[in-house]
Amino acid sequence: MDSFYKLSGLRCNPAKCQLFCAGIPKEEMLTISEFTEFPLGTLPVRYLGVPLITGKLTRQDCKVLVDKITQKLRSWRSKLLSYAGKIQLISTVITSTLQYWLNIFLLPQFVIKEVGRLCNEFLWDSAEDGSRKKGVMAWDKLSIPKKEGGLGIRNFGVWNKACVLRHLWEILTLGGSIWVAWISRYRLKGRSIWELSVGSAGTLIWKRLLKCKAIAYPFVSGNGSNTLWQGEQMKQFSMSRVWNDIREKKPEVQWWRLVWAKEIIPKHGLILWLAIHGRLVTQDKLLAWGENVSGCCVLCPGGVESRDHLMIYCSYSLSVLKLCMKSLSPPDVGDWEATVAWCAREWKKKAARSRLCRVLWCTAVSYIWRERCSRMYRTKVIRDPAMLVKLIREEVTYRVYEDPALQLELDSIQ
Ligand SMILES: [Zn+2]
Repeated sequence: MDSFYKLSGLRCNPAKCQLFCAGIPKEEMLTISEFTEFPLGTLPVRYLGVPLITGKLTRQDCKVLVDKITQKLRSWRSKLLSYAGKIQLISTVITSTLQYWLNIFLLPQFVIKEVGRLCNEFLWDSAEDGSRKKGVMAWDKLSIPKKEGGLGIRNFGVWNKACVLRHLWEILTLGGSIWVAWISRYRLKGRSIWELSVGSAGTLIWKRLLKCKAIAYPFVSGNGSNTLWQGEQMKQFSMSRVWNDIREKKPEVQWWRLVWAKEIIPKHGLILWLAIHGRLVTQDKLLAWGENVSGCCVLCPGGVESRDHLMIYCSYSLSVLKLCMKSLSPPDVGDWEATVAWCAREWKKKAARSRLCRVLWCTAVSYIWRERCSRMYRTKVIRDPAMLVKLIREEVTYRVYEDPALQLELDSIQ
């Protein structure tokens, strides 16, 4: 080691080195370890936190990643976060924690599923309405774009494929990296990657990459620097675009603007989203689950509490909507689904009137639900429709503060 240092000027730092031995007795390993001051390491070797392996990723290999995500989610549990806040954390922090691994490996299905399960549990745990996990939806239904009815969280499995396809793209376009040069020389040997069979020699990661050819095949044409993605040049590989192209698309839902439009306040949009998906934990559901509740609406004197009752038939809610939106409130068109369809159709435009109707209605729906939860689980403070409308108007006024067109519209229905 000293000779190496004298020749190269590079001194080994024992704190950053580990000793790996095979085929020698343990005593000998310990002697070498003592002599070199390098601690004994265990396989797999990690580099920048990622295991350096050529075979199949096992649960043990991925444990460090799953533990890291579990730890992050646990640290946020103690905080009082809204659904919107939780979704934001999953979309940003958890996705970026995963990103490093997703760029390198095609993660096994069990890891993708486990991370999805952890995020799903975190999302519904200690929910704002005190329902705890009762409203859980399948993660696959949540991790789809907002316009298709989801929460806009990317599906980790499909995103992983898009990340790995970047390597394939580099090979196809003969990117300038040393890795591509090595692959060209030792793996391709003058052939195109399309000619190689999935079963050809190489590490498991290489074989997985070859398997991904089938995903890219329908989108790729040309070769070398003239390789095209869907008939177009892609100067820089766009993972978002590739992800969007390779994923299974669902039809657009008509109501997405009611929940996700720019003017909507996210925490209220989420309540409306839950209502649309039939995930508000109303008393008819609690009764069906055998919970000890009366089943009676806490907002009005009569009626069994269900989503449709709360949002459409309840006299309290009707008063709130009438007071809040005046002649703009949705007419009686039948049940909740018909009302949502009516609102989505009538208020789909970009005009200020449509935007104001969307934000007022969404905020009112959310406030009605919050009033119901507040009466059921928290305080005994009872707000009459006029008081609730005052709060709704205040919040919407604050929201449209920097939008003169919306302000004008709001003033016109005072
Ligand atoms: Zn009622």
